[in-house]
Amino acid sequence: MSIHEIPLSKPDITDLEVELVTTVLRSGRLSIGPAQEQFEKSVSARVGCDHGVACSSGTAGLHMAMLALGIGPGDEVITSPFSFIASANPILYVGATPKFVDICPKTLNMDPERLAAAITPRTKAIIAVETFGNPSYMDAYAQIAGRHEIPMIEDCCEALGCSLKGRQCGSFGRIGVFGFYPNKQITTGEGGMIVTSDKRLADMCRSLRSQGRPLPSSPIGTAKAPVAVGMGGAGVGHHSSPPVQTDAGPGTGSWLLHERLGYNYRLSEIHAALGIAQMRRLDEIIQKRQNVAGMYMRKLMGSADIILPNTCADTITSWFVFVVRLANTFTRDDRDRIIAGMRRHEVGAGDYFPCIHLQPFYRQQFGFGPGDFPIAESISQRTIALPFHNNLSERDVDIVCQTLELMISRENLKRT
Ligand SMILES: *Cc1c(COP(=O)(O)O)cnc(C)c1O
Repeated sequence: MSIHEIPLSKPDITDLEVELVTTVLRSGRLSIGPAQEQFEKSVSARVGCDHGVACSSGTAGLHMAMLALGIGPGDEVITSPFSFIASANPILYVGATPKFVDICPKTLNMDPERLAAAITPRTKAIIAVETFGNPSYMDAYAQIAGRHEIPMIEDCCEALGCSLKGRQCGSFGRIGVFGFYPNKQITTGEGGMIVTSDKRLADMCRSLRSQGRPLPSSPIGTAKAPVAVGMGGAGVGHHSSPPVQTDAGPGTGSWLLHERLGYNYRLSEIHAALGIAQMRRLDEIIQKRQNVAGMYMRKLMGSADIILPNTCADTITSWFVFVVRLANTFTRDDRDRIIAGMRRHEVGAGDYFPCIHLQPFYRQQFGFGPGDFPIAESISQRTIALPFHNNLSERDVDIVCQTLELMISRENLKRT
């Protein structure tokens, strides 16, 4: 690490973020407050869904989505083998069985035809992933899910601000889940958001997020308040009181009533304030990311050794990461040496993504092995994620491209 290093990713935090977070810190209200609600509204409105449920991570959001849809042991859930581990693990959290479908080499998303063919009577959901922020086929997946009357969960953790045929990612499934880890389009440090237009699902997720407290519509949750901790909580002891909010906080009616097995998957007000600031800047952020991607495209265009990311018809991407592929003549070892060489030259590089089905735990647990999903395996051996963030300068992009090309030419020399 040195000051010359070009990192793989970097959050973009301005005075606005600092100001809004500071305001929350000074307010004395650090959890379950107005910032969470405002953040939920800003994301759900942007996506075009009626409800947003903020949570502690994208992974937590996907877990709650599975639970709210009633997925459990004996059920099969289909997803992509070429993704971050968090798009498949929630299937295991609820005791269901993951079924992978190989990808299309152009879009890196699940092949819709293979997906349709993989559905069995035990298939209870599809988790659709916009790989690297590519929204291709989301409409096709939703149609297939609809035809089979199974829910589609959109793992849109890589796709905030992306759209297909004018429709925002997050709005294609019954439920969508965003993630706000620092390398995503916007960050809350850690955090996530469920979006849906199904009020019942949103209410269920709110209850699961907060220790299984009663749903706003539950008869227990609406009338007599069982506890009051001296804070003058809403409706204490009055039968005519308005519905008690699941998340209203200690001292309010149903704070110590737990109707189902829940979790603490809440997002703090501090995180939510960071999210509000980032959402206000989303258009600027998308613009910056598209500019950086454009610079890479122009500089790497025409190289016979490099396959650039496909910009697909009818799609707009906000670019989660910038991932190139080496041509088919390169091996995994070549790729790994190129990545190591770039890192030695203080240029960040990553091998996004090793296939999920080949992760040690998945092999052990489900007996997957090499050859099961040949397209995903072949592609994942040759990907290189390049440094990518909002404020990457043209000079940085030049250095990255020159270093990449130098490392590739060294590998080429070895073979001649
Ligand atoms: C980032 C990401 C997630 C969620 O990650 P968290 O770190 O839990 O917020 C889930 N799926 C995919 C495909 C992701 O890229």
